[in-house]
Amino acid sequence: MTLKLITASVIGASLATGAMAEGLIGIAMPTQSSARWISDGQAMVAQFEEAGYDTILQYAEDDIPNQLAQIENMVTNGVNVLVIAAIDGTTLSNALENAHFAGVEVIAYDRLIRDSPHVSYYATFDNFQVGVQQASSLIAGLEERFGEGPYNVELFGGSPDDNNAYFFYDGAMSVLQPAIDAGDVVIKSGQMGMDTVGTLRWDGAVAQARMDNLLSAHYTEDQVHGVLSPYDGLSIGILSSLKGVGYGSGDLPMPIVSGQDAEIPSIKSILAGEQYSTVFKDTRELARVTVGMVDALLSGSEPEINDTETYDNGQLVVPSFLLEPVSVDASNWEEILVGSGYYTADQLQ
Ligand code: BGC
Repeated sequence: MTLKLITASVIGASLATGAMAEGLIGIAMPTQSSARWISDGQAMVAQFEEAGYDTILQYAEDDIPNQLAQIENMVTNGVNVLVIAAIDGTTLSNALENAHFAGVEVIAYDRLIRDSPHVSYYATFDNFQVGVQQASSLIAGLEERFGEGPYNVELFGGSPDDNNAYFFYDGAMSVLQPAIDAGDVVIKSGQMGMDTVGTLRWDGAVAQARMDNLLSAHYTEDQVHGVLSPYDGLSIGILSSLKGVGYGSGDLPMPIVSGQDAEIPSIKSILAGEQYSTVFKDTRELARVTVGMVDALLSGSEPEINDTETYDNGQLVVPSFLLEPVSVDASNWEEILVGSGYYTADQLQ
């Protein structure tokens, strides 16, 4: 291993120059366009280094061939373990086969890697519960802001190539479907199901454009009361669209909009009375679980696992550790986000 082998695009690469490290860990992250993945990368580099490992951290800016090339390079550079948050969870089969032949173990980070037998562990949150929390908060917000229903609601899903998106959607629908069946929630557009409401690459601009279309096609006479949004980046786009036609001013109250990741623009939006809620997933905890899995893999011990049933990737049920997400809104943001030291009060000003 020489420094020369690590390309200039490597972010956060740290190679020991003195004592032998415990091992070299390749961390492949999807994109820096969302702050949550930056926090994940930083937390992992810090915790791996503290545990005596060297790291190579790379972001692929949501470009699949880029992520594949980064993973191949990490293998060439001699990593012992790959920690991968996939862009498209179905495109890594060959890359993982090559890693396997090179003796490299793989941990799926946050997002399940599908269609490969070479995934040792999966570190994530309870993704179904994330959806349950989003929809429960949406219903609570609708009751609080609009009193009795029925409420007009529109649905947004995450990226169809991300296994998590289905868990979020299914979790949310476990709460919303009974309300739809009872007539308390009305999807005026009729647009339902991940194949219809999914948002490729979790792109906020795509969500904003779809919200524009929904408003002009279905809400010229009626008011929309709520929007299920699975991710803060989409929520911000959806809110722009809503504000563009006058929601949140005059006699048009802002609809209840959910989110995920507790990103700073969304917390500020919650404090400004625009976005209603988000779901906080503590990336420091996810890093801790992941470092524990790597330690176990490299020392032949047993890692912390709490789920051996949920995440069938098409080749095996991947042993998983699921962390608990936390629903955050105007009532508890300070305690959860500042109290835990995740953000300083200044960052949210
Ligand atoms: C993650 C979410 C995130 C989304 C978009 C999902 O796989 O679990 O936390 O909001 O990707 O980046």
